[in-house]
Amino acid sequence: MKVAVIGAGAMGSLFGGLLAEAGAEVWLIDIWEAHVDAVNRDGLIIEREGQTRIVRLQATTDPETVKKSELVIVFVKSTHTGDAALVAKRIAGRKGLVLTLQNGMGNADRIAREVDPLNVIAGTTSYGATMLGPGKIRHAGVGPTTIGMWHDKEAGKAEKVAAFFSKAGIETDVADDVRRIVWGKLLINVGINAITALTGIKNGQLLDLEATRELSRAAVEEAAAVAAAQNIDVREDVAAHVLEVARATGGNRSSMGQDVDNRRLTEIAAINGVVVKEAERLGMPAPINRTLTALVQTLQAHY
Ligand code: NAD
Repeated sequence: MKVAVIGAGAMGSLFGGLLAEAGAEVWLIDIWEAHVDAVNRDGLIIEREGQTRIVRLQATTDPETVKKSELVIVFVKSTHTGDAALVAKRIAGRKGLVLTLQNGMGNADRIAREVDPLNVIAGTTSYGATMLGPGKIRHAGVGPTTIGMWHDKEAGKAEKVAAFFSKAGIETDVADDVRRIVWGKLLINVGINAITALTGIKNGQLLDLEATRELSRAAVEEAAAVAAAQNIDVREDVAAHVLEVARATGGNRSSMGQDVDNRRLTEIAAINGVVVKEAERLGMPAPINRTLTALVQTLQAHY
């Protein structure tokens, strides 16, 4: 399968690299010239548990040079999904499938405004990766990937992609209720990311104080009510589950925390910010998520 990855940072390079290793023709597309140059010159260096290997694949900063692809994977941060969706439209054409495994809510809808909504696939992945420098990533974690059609009632296209991924060693399932899956991941990010980003703590430290446990619980329950109002089936113990995830990933700094540490724009608008927007649309209150959103937006505006 011919694959184009738009946004070849940590995750885009990882997925592109794994698919290329399995024999797919992969193009990485990124605006970061030094990274693209390094991949083309030296190959993509993937570090995993102290071992490194090199994957040869093509990278470019110019999407115009990439021919039509059967599968386009969008892996920019959600702040750049609009730009990536325009590129995806050209590279996917009428028939190509466009997959997002980004965090946050709103990415699939944004992509579906540009490409045939029946070709949009969304999902979540437990894979983890970190950018080590131009041309070099660390493959940090492995876990299930779940995808599903965002609009199409028929799952056939998602099944084809899942089989392709699984053959490349990326274990992937298809869900017929992918909105519930994406919301499930969103609720975890809602309960962990903003609080850790604002306070400088690691995920596990959320559990240390009643104050942070309570703040996480309140943010998650508020968001879960917004999900339930849209008929998204949310697990009853969702707030406790989020704290369990924080415990299980205790030593990690959340992605939003890392963004703040490195003075990068965060994905706050697609995480807590989406809850606020959806709550407004539904006439529901969301004071906790509104406050967390405003504080992170203030922090990043004053880097
Ligand atoms: P990243 O910042 O490492 O990579 C994003 C890349 O997109 C960057 O290299 C950037 O230069 C590029 N980019 C920005 N605008 C672009 C454009 N218009 N065209 C092409 N490229 C562009 O981010 P990441 O950690 O790989 O995360 C990507 C997404 O995956 C996010 O939504 C994140 O929340 C999600 N995610 C990350 C992980 C992880 O472990 N890193 C795990 C699961 C999900």
